[in-house]
Amino acid sequence: MNVVPPTSASLTSALAGVLPNGGLLTATQDLARYSRDWSGDHFGRPLAVARPASVEEMSALMRYCHAQRIPVVPQGGLTGLVGAAVAADGGEIVISLERMNRIRSISPIDFAMVVEAGCILEDAKRAAEQSDCLLPITFGAQGSCRIGGNVATNAGGFNVLRYGMTRDLVLGLEVVLADGRVWNGLKVLRKDNRGYDLKQIFIGSEGTLGVVTAAALKLFPKPTQIETALVGLRSVEDAMALYARARRDCSDLLTAFELILRGGIEITMREGADFPDPLDKAYPAYVLIEVSSGGLIDLSAMLLGFLGGVTDLVEDGIVASTRAQAERLWLYREIMVERQGRGGRYLRTDVSVPISKLADFVTDALFELQRARPDALAVTYGHVGDGNIHLNVVPPEGMAPDAVEHLFEEAEAVIFAIVDRYGGSISAEHGIGRVKQKAFLERIDPVTLDLAAGIKEAFDPRHLLSNGRILATRADHGL
Ligand SMILES: Cc1cc2nc3c(=O)[nH]c(=O)nc-3n(C[C@H](O)[C@H](O)[C@H](O)COP(=O)(O)OP(=O)(O)OC[C@H]3O[C@@H](n4cnc5c(N)ncnc54)[C@H](O)[C@@H]3O)c2cc1C
Repeated sequence: MNVVPPTSASLTSALAGVLPNGGLLTATQDLARYSRDWSGDHFGRPLAVARPASVEEMSALMRYCHAQRIPVVPQGGLTGLVGAAVAADGGEIVISLERMNRIRSISPIDFAMVVEAGCILEDAKRAAEQSDCLLPITFGAQGSCRIGGNVATNAGGFNVLRYGMTRDLVLGLEVVLADGRVWNGLKVLRKDNRGYDLKQIFIGSEGTLGVVTAAALKLFPKPTQIETALVGLRSVEDAMALYARARRDCSDLLTAFELILRGGIEITMREGADFPDPLDKAYPAYVLIEVSSGGLIDLSAMLLGFLGGVTDLVEDGIVASTRAQAERLWLYREIMVERQGRGGRYLRTDVSVPISKLADFVTDALFELQRARPDALAVTYGHVGDGNIHLNVVPPEGMAPDAVEHLFEEAEAVIFAIVDRYGGSISAEHGIGRVKQKAFLERIDPVTLDLAAGIKEAFDPRHLLSNGRILATRADHGL
């Protein structure tokens, strides 16, 4: 059996003492599945994988690593897309949350649940449903990502326009700090104005400030009605005009508004006869609209009434008459996301601009991308109700790896320059991690950088937690 190098033997036996009962993995074959992320683009062999099963074990692990100055990286479901959760090759211990996956409590009266960080998002959603509640965080990776990862990345998803991002849904957190102390901020209070709201500092911190071990999350009444439509439009501009009308005319019941350009629909259609052209003819832009509600509203009539009033914008459309049909419409989006890279690497962006500027942004970005790199294929889709758009770039088939790298750099520079012009963000969803670090640091103003570095210093003075993600490494700071 392959184990970590002999120099690590004393480390291994000390850690095995801290994490009894299979909590420590060191064999090469055991480490493999913690070494590569969902995209397959990021790989890093950890020194070992620590799998604490309780807050006490997590605390003991962090205390030991702090004392011995061992770098660590927390890991959830490995679906993050910025290379943050895999180890720096051979230099970090991965802390997997997978054994801390219990639902601690659900209260339909508080409309809150307390979930351990290793719980898979879909399992948490299912548990909420069993109590007639909705945990609204919803997106393609929900069968694999974990609650701690959702908190650490401030995950968004399809329903942000109605329910907000993870940041808006967290009532409290339990976090093990870099030195092993436990910060217990796990409460289900709706209102609490006692001093600083420390939980917010951990949300979106990508594992750089502490290890989230549990979260108290807001729940909502489970909708009893959901209506879904796919519509075809002449342009992104018309899609955004439709969004403005939908926001006002659907009584705040709009739950999703997903834009897909024609190229994306064609990617799904490549799956064959099961996925024919969804409407009678091709349109430049498509929008998946979902409305949902409980109570006495006639939701179907509301959606049909709305669509009947926007025929100046909507060229054609289909309204799902069953849940199965609705799921099928959603598959056009999900399959496109999975197949867009044709099995190879592609450039992912997750930018945002003010909603009022999104149509102009897409027009400019696609035009300038085409001018700079006519050989590349742009795949465009997004949660445009939040001003969020994925403008991904697929290289031509058979392109050499060096040329692909160059294409990605060039395309990203073109897209980010236009994002800057429109006052947008280079990361609306996936975070900074390692992949976006250079672009992030190039744009950060000195005051923000100073404050951020001070926060890192206060929470992790030895720079052992997810070192080199978001901010530069300690060595880069000359420390
Ligand atoms: C098909 C697909 C669709 C996606 N769609 C969306 C989307 O619509 N919206 C969106 O926001 N994201 C989306 N993502 C990105 C990703 O799923 C989210 O970022 C998710 O929240 C990551 O969770 P994870 O458990 O996989 O985290 P990981 O990938 O394991 O980790 C992500 C980061 O969180 C840190 N981390 C993990 N657990 C903890 C913890 N317990 N304590 C402290 N830090 C921790 C890691 O160190 C790393 O920095 C998508 C990804 C895929 C593959």
